[in-house]
Amino acid sequence: MNENFESVTAIIGKNVFNDSVMRERLPKNVYKEFKKTIAEGRFLDAALADTVANAMKDWAIENNATHFCHWFQPMTGFTAEKHDSFISPTPEGRGIMEFSGKELTQGEPDASSFPSGGLRATFEARGYTTWDCTSPAFIKETGKNVTLYIPCAFCSYNAEALDKKTPLLRSMDALNTQAIRVLKILGNNNSKKVLATLGPEQEYFLVERKFFEKRLDLMLTGRSLFGAPAPRGQEMSDHYFGPLHERVATFMHDVNVELWKLGVSAKTQHNEVSPAQYELAPVFATVNVATDHNQLVMETLQKVGLRHNLVCLIHEKPFVGVNGSGKHNNWSMVTDDGINLLEPGSTPHDNMVFLVMLCAVVRAVDKYSKLLRASVATAGNDYRLGANEAPPAIVSIFLGDQLTDIFEQLAAGGAKSSKTSGQLKLGVSTLPPLPKDCTDRNRTSPFAFTGNKFEFRMVGSSQSTAGPMFVLNTIVADVLKEMADELEKSSNVETDVQKILQRIANEHRRIIFNGDNYGEEWTKEAAKRGLPNIKSTVESLNTIMDAEHVEVFEKHKVLSKAELKARTEILLDAYSMIINIEAKTSLNIAQRQILPAAIEYSGILARAVKNINKADANPAGQKKELDKVCKLIDALNNNIEELKKAIADANNADNSSKRAENCRSIILSAMNKVRQVADELEMVVDAKLWPLPSYAEMLFIK
Ligand code: ADP
Ligand code: MG
Repeated sequence: MNENFESVTAIIGKNVFNDSVMRERLPKNVYKEFKKTIAEGRFLDAALADTVANAMKDWAIENNATHFCHWFQPMTGFTAEKHDSFISPTPEGRGIMEFSGKELTQGEPDASSFPSGGLRATFEARGYTTWDCTSPAFIKETGKNVTLYIPCAFCSYNAEALDKKTPLLRSMDALNTQAIRVLKILGNNNSKKVLATLGPEQEYFLVERKFFEKRLDLMLTGRSLFGAPAPRGQEMSDHYFGPLHERVATFMHDVNVELWKLGVSAKTQHNEVSPAQYELAPVFATVNVATDHNQLVMETLQKVGLRHNLVCLIHEKPFVGVNGSGKHNNWSMVTDDGINLLEPGSTPHDNMVFLVMLCAVVRAVDKYSKLLRASVATAGNDYRLGANEAPPAIVSIFLGDQLTDIFEQLAAGGAKSSKTSGQLKLGVSTLPPLPKDCTDRNRTSPFAFTGNKFEFRMVGSSQSTAGPMFVLNTIVADVLKEMADELEKSSNVETDVQKILQRIANEHRRIIFNGDNYGEEWTKEAAKRGLPNIKSTVESLNTIMDAEHVEVFEKHKVLSKAELKARTEILLDAYSMIINIEAKTSLNIAQRQILPAAIEYSGILARAVKNINKADANPAGQKKELDKVCKLIDALNNNIEELKKAIADANNADNSSKRAENCRSIILSAMNKVRQVADELEMVVDAKLWPLPSYAEMLFIK
């Protein structure tokens, strides 16, 4: 270990303007007032903001910061930042360091180049950023630059949300309001607030930088558009949870240190299923903070990777034939006094709060399954979902044996008992019996109950967690509202709760599935049950504007119809742009790298045939090879022309939905045809001439 390595506890949160820093640096009354403002969800008043800003600036400067920035998450799904220095010139020609409350709480970047989905014209450039003071400010060191980051929401001149954060915060408000109502009815008068929690497990690949730099496809699209499968893939299951390679372990160490400093409690790390694939999971946090942190995780993995000459690929499907990457979103709800509302306890059948919350989630997920599906609909995720390694596009819920049994009891009129699980005896005298969990795990389920939380596994590895999480918060809030509306009028809450649970258990039984989600059988069974199976991103995005979806977002003030429409447009456009970039990159590589290599090889073969003939030997083998290569070159030529035409045809559409659908139906198949021939050529052409690093090199060289 590095001699200068400070103890881990000294590093954690070192660069965060967190509670302990505030307590130390803010006048007591200001600190108290600030905490109260956050707890009550109010705005920060101007005088308070000035004092907080000043303390923040002093702290930042002591930590070598020269700049501050409003850090926000436009609808690109990435983060954005514009840095300003604290410097303010003085009349004597010198400078002082200043930072006002207004600069802390509000920014006004020129926002015209971010996607707005038609919410405003390009010339209407004003956008506002405002500090989300529930997510603490932090300092980030990038090379020599040290900047104070202020996590922000971002909206237009007319207060329309232009980012991922605003609807997430609004959905947290909605969930809080409705969950507190239900808790009150169930007799909990102590809890003042309910917060959604999120622990996102992040999967990623690491590839040698020198290979990455030779692959235009990885550089421009994040995934390999060409590449014959390596003779070995993941079939030996030897990478999964295997010992960490020294170089990777050192990389992970450096990532952890960076993240700990930023207040991200990176906790779990391991090798994943595919060779060269890994996972990082932090300890869960409030959903908005966890969303900010996940952005930092993705960024840090990439940044630190480069220091080790490794490139981190966050794409959902960098390599065909081996597993892609997801981002499992572990979600629950917790009260301000620490009650996890999805904690079943040892006798879940008589834990009324748990049963109500569980049933609310089940109903929400079934009722709004199309919306959840749409929240993970991206071009990258299309290559992963349903590819026998990730959940299919059918939303279902895994409850496990114990809860399914209770759910069935509820359907029949009331839950009277909880199955217990006993102990595991291993039959080895030196090994103690282990307490057995009440439910086994099911890795194939898109939405699985995992002990005291749900795990939404359809989310793509490169996605912001904000989208899927604001959908989940909103739909659960909606069902809780229904319950509260009904129960607040009830004269016998206990019986009426039972009735509601019975109704839900009967109505939504179809969404519960504990079996193998990857199998053909389930697809058929799901169709019988009437569960939607929305295979493509385009089809899925086209469901967003369904009347019940508009209604649920408007009812809970998460998104207006116009905001939702704008988002749909942005997502459709993003899909088309991604497919176009992939197609153009594909053309570029096929035309300028693969074709020339194949032609060169055919020349070598032709000369060999000629020379062998001259030498009076029989060039039959060389001729056969030459024929094969010539046929493939011809096919590649034709397919390249076809792809060019497909790109032109597909983009000739008068609206974004049509264009996206064209991209899917016309471009993807043309691109596949180019790849197919190119990959065949890879297996024929002399390896020394092949311009692209192979799958074996990229996946296995450490
Ligand atoms: P798995 O065994 O499914 O791979 P991991 O240990 O990798 O699980 O990750 C589980 C994630 O779930 C962690 O980020 C953990 O902090 C998070 N988690 C645990 N409890 C909760 C909760 N109550 N709410 C949200 N997330 C939670
Ligand atoms: Mg995990």
